[in-house]
Amino acid sequence: MKNTYKAVEVSAPGVLRVVERQVSEPGAGQVRIRVEACGVCHTDAATVMGIYPGLTLPRVPGHEVVARIEALGSGVSKWKIGQRVGVGLIAGEDGVCEPCRRGDSVNCQNPVVSGVTADGGYAEVMIAEARALASVPDELTSAEAAPLLCAGITTYNALRNAGLRGGDLVAVQGIGGLGHLGVQFARRLDSILSQSGAEAKKSLRRIWAHVYIDTAVD
Ligand SMILES: [Zn+2]
Ligand SMILES: [Zn+2]
Repeated sequence: MKNTYKAVEVSAPGVLRVVERQVSEPGAGQVRIRVEACGVCHTDAATVMGIYPGLTLPRVPGHEVVARIEALGSGVSKWKIGQRVGVGLIAGEDGVCEPCRRGDSVNCQNPVVSGVTADGGYAEVMIAEARALASVPDELTSAEAAPLLCAGITTYNALRNAGLRGGDLVAVQGIGGLGHLGVQFARRLDSILSQSGAEAKKSLRRIWAHVYIDTAVD
């Protein structure tokens, strides 16, 4: 196997370049994964512009990663080589800070953050923390699954944490990269949607909105 891989790194604020890197072995509790798809999220811009808090450059952006495991670090027993997995933005909580100990790991004070504290998925190869991996079902292609790792979980959790039940009425305002996923999750609950413009109306029909409200019209 080639011992180098291509990655797209931010070498200085606003400067993205393709580089060839040495393949490294995963450390304890980590896996090395071969990337099949990586979504593009607006948060990546904070890495590209060098403004994400705590960021050091060079850094490879990308936190909607679907990949296959190709090497296991020591102590990794639950995952297998060849298994397809996903990695999101918060990609390894420390497990010991106060929020973690309260079970609120999304607010960990010292997390591994893909594309910020560790290199992300704009690359052929990535090192990821085994404890943060999600298993990807065979029914989804890698390109379909990738955006679910950030845009998908954000909108799904918004619906879930709003305490909604089947049959409740939901409005999703703004049908962009996140909103179109919110619509599709809400459809399973019963949704009403708002967005302006004829183009939006067409795309909303395609993703099964029940109702369309044009916010540009009184
Ligand atoms: Zn994101
Ligand atoms: Zn923590």
